[in-house]
Amino acid sequence: MDFDLNEEQTILRDNLRKMMDDIATSDYLREHDENGLYPYEVYEKWVEMGLLGLPFPEQYGGYGGDVIDMAIVSEELGRKAYPFLEAYGLSAFSGLTLLQNGSEEQKKHYLPKLINGEIRMSISMTEPDAGSDAGNMRTLAVADGDSWVINGQKVFSTAADAKNNIITLYCKTDNDVPYQKGITAFLVPNDTPGLEIRRLKTFGCNMLGLSEVFFENVRVSDSQRVGEVNGGWQCMLSGLMFERIVTSAGYVGNAQTVVDQALEYAKERKQFGKPIGHSQAIAHMLADMQTNVDASRMLMLRAAVKLSKGENAMREVTQAKLFGSETFAEVANQGMQIMGGYSYMMEYDMQRHYRDARSTTIAAGTSQMQRNLIANTMGLKVR
Ligand SMILES: Cc1cc2nc3c(=O)[nH]c(=O)nc-3n(C[C@H](O)[C@H](O)[C@H](O)COP(=O)(O)OP(=O)(O)OC[C@H]3O[C@@H](n4cnc5c(N)ncnc54)[C@H](O)[C@@H]3O)c2cc1C
Repeated sequence: MDFDLNEEQTILRDNLRKMMDDIATSDYLREHDENGLYPYEVYEKWVEMGLLGLPFPEQYGGYGGDVIDMAIVSEELGRKAYPFLEAYGLSAFSGLTLLQNGSEEQKKHYLPKLINGEIRMSISMTEPDAGSDAGNMRTLAVADGDSWVINGQKVFSTAADAKNNIITLYCKTDNDVPYQKGITAFLVPNDTPGLEIRRLKTFGCNMLGLSEVFFENVRVSDSQRVGEVNGGWQCMLSGLMFERIVTSAGYVGNAQTVVDQALEYAKERKQFGKPIGHSQAIAHMLADMQTNVDASRMLMLRAAVKLSKGENAMREVTQAKLFGSETFAEVANQGMQIMGGYSYMMEYDMQRHYRDARSTTIAAGTSQMQRNLIANTMGLKVR
């Protein structure tokens, strides 16, 4: 398997790295993390660079990139801070769900706007009583003429309150059919009357924020329905492999930054008259950290290559998500240890990496759910 980047991919990565280094400085990150500010300025630069168009066909204004291109971009964005990848990824994989499941009219209407930055997208699926068991959701849309009236509540919706955001909402449309079969997807602009968004206080991922979203008689037209009525579960699954590759690449990027920063500190910080990195305990920790990050990268690339060939990559993608997120959380924890008391200070980046990393074994499917999925590809039947 060839993991080398071609010339175009190398240029893409280098240009993106330079742009992110210029704009997403440590001060910018600190201010946005501390104050829970969405990174609009950085998103605007991605739009200018054409990154929002990368995974979409030319007929909708995109550039027809493949999953490997997306992995390169995602690792680079994650390298600065995992939440950047989430901001980009939410729009990209919501748009791809629309590409795969939307009507021609919807694609022509929404995709060019997504690509030129007029709109961005997020996902609301989780509810207070339906997390890993997402099919157990209760929010209900009831048909009323050529529109739908929605009532219910979502929770933990990342970036739902960002400007010009359209929520891809998964809700029930039929309570009488078995589990998971009565779900439908709708596109709901976040300023639709009857919709209320309340930001939650979170441990990390503050730049984008997590919100509760309340629906009280929210009326949407049938033209905002994506895919078939009661076909929402399939709609959601259609984007899942892509979502997990992109997030796995983001984990690798941020985890590598953790190792780089911890290594630099270990070379400079002196105790007992020598750099702490010359103590075997610290050196071995760093060696293990880099080895695990490299292994995460290989798993992610293996899955991306398989997916780009159109093959079933369920096991590989899930392994990349599981190992990548656990590695990111683990190296961030070790990075804290290596930087000692300074890591605990808000003026150092390590505490932010640690807080952001801690979400990744929970969000986009918990580690336990990933292990269930992997076991199921091995012929076991776990739920
Ligand atoms: C930072 C962050 C961002 C998020 N962004 C979004 C978003 O944008 N949109 C959205 O819809 N949701 C989002 N979520 C929600 C996320 O998808 C859920 O938190 C996740 O699916 C887990 O659901 P839960 O929190 O209800 O935990 P639960 O499902 O209640 O799980 C609690 C624990 O039990 C374990 N568990 C549950 N069932 C089993 C089982 N059968 N076998 C073994 N263990 C099990 C879980 O692994 C976990 O350890 C986000 C969450 C976080 C933390």
